[in-house]
This record gives sequence, structure tokens and C-alpha cells, in this order.
Amino acid sequence: MRQRHKPWADDFLKENSHIVIPESNLQKGKWKELFGNSNPIHVEIGTGKGQFITGMAEQFPNINFIGIEVVKSIVVNAAQKVIESGQKNIILLNEDANDLREFFAEHEIATIYLNFSDPWPKNRHEKRRLTYHTFLEQYKNVLMTNGELIFKTDNQGLFEYSLVSFSKFGMNFEEVNLDLHKLHDPENIMTEYEEKFSAKGQRIYRSRVTF
Ligand code: SAM
Repeated sequence: MRQRHKPWADDFLKENSHIVIPESNLQKGKWKELFGNSNPIHVEIGTGKGQFITGMAEQFPNINFIGIEVVKSIVVNAAQKVIESGQKNIILLNEDANDLREFFAEHEIATIYLNFSDPWPKNRHEKRRLTYHTFLEQYKNVLMTNGELIFKTDNQGLFEYSLVSFSKFGMNFEEVNLDLHKLHDPENIMTEYEEKFSAKGQRIYRSRVTF
């Protein structure tokens, strides 16, 4: 995702620290207190500019959403969307999801979304794919029993790789959809990438798996 440098980003993040939470590790195990209720928590990894998470928060006001985005100038875009939406059930973390256990206690999360994750097609970059087994171990740790990992992509290679990775990890397949938009599911909230690629005629794949 290409982004312009935003010299004002640090000031913006300071002013909006109730939306983009600094020092996320201090909140580990206490996210419900921060939201002020005991609604389930859903996490999106690689939130991008925030269209999915704000759409989901509007559609599901009784769920708390946390978006994790590693690039500062992109999390700023997502925060602007959250502010525009006026939704109180979303917060963002400007963090690398490399070790989720730094931010979340065991079984703290009900659902994890991976949307159009970077495919890292070269074999030598396999470890960076968000469906590599080291990531699955972390998801298993922070997800509740029966918590779901929901993965959407337009990238057939990454989808095939991920299904094999889930299977090797012994995960249960609740859904494997090879053409999501054929369903015309009114509950499907499109991400920025999903809109872009489906407009070009690309198929969108989705899987839902549990541990
Ligand atoms: N999910 C959005 C969408 O579907 O429109 C953005 C997809 S974009 C291809 C992938 C995003 O994931 C980028 O914004 C990137 O910065 C972010 N990302 C990649 N690896 C990450 C990581 N380890 N932790 C947090 N964010 C990550």
C-alpha cells in the first residue's frame, strides 16, 4: 500500500491517543476495561485505511474491534475514518502483529480477520506470510476456544498456501469459499483492496477456520 509521508502524523497520533492506543502492551488482558464493556473483541491484522473495520463496527455495534496496522501513515488514514464514523467500538494499534502475545492475553480475542494480507510470493519470505505456522501458534494462543480466523484474499497462491498451512496445523475448516462475491452476502464488508481487485474482475476467496 503506497503512502505519502505525513510529517504531522506524530502530532495527530498524540491528539488521538484514545483511538490509536500507544503502549498497547500495557493493555494486555485489559482491553474490555478500555472499551468499558464485556462485549467480544474482534481483531483485524493489517487494517490498511480502515474501511473494513469501520464498516464492521457500524454493522455490529455489540462487538469491539481492534485494528492493527504497522505503517504509521496508513494507521493515520484509518484513524481519520474511525473519527468520521463516530463509532466508539473501534480502536487501532500502530504495531507490528509479529508477536500478538505482547498485546493480548490468552483467549482474550473472539475472532481474527486477515484481509488481503501481503502475499510474500518468494519462498525465502514464507515466514513473513501471516498464515505461516508461527503466526497460527500466536492466533491459537490469543483466540478463545472455538474463536475463528477469517481470511479473505484475491491471491490464489496465498490462499492455496494458507489452506495447506491450516491443514498441517490441524485446524478445522468451517468455510472455504472460492468465489465470495457470487454469494451476494449483504453482511460482507468490503476492504479497500477487495473493492479494487473485484472491480478488475478478480475472484475473492474466503476461509473461516477454528483451532
Ligand atoms: N486489509 C487492507 C485491505 O484489504 O484493503 C490492506 C491490505 S494491504 C495489502 C496489507 C496491510 O497490512 C498493509 O497496510 C500493511 O502495512 C499491513 N501489514 C502487513 N504486515 C503487518 C504486520 N505484521 N502487522 C501489522 N500490519 C501489517
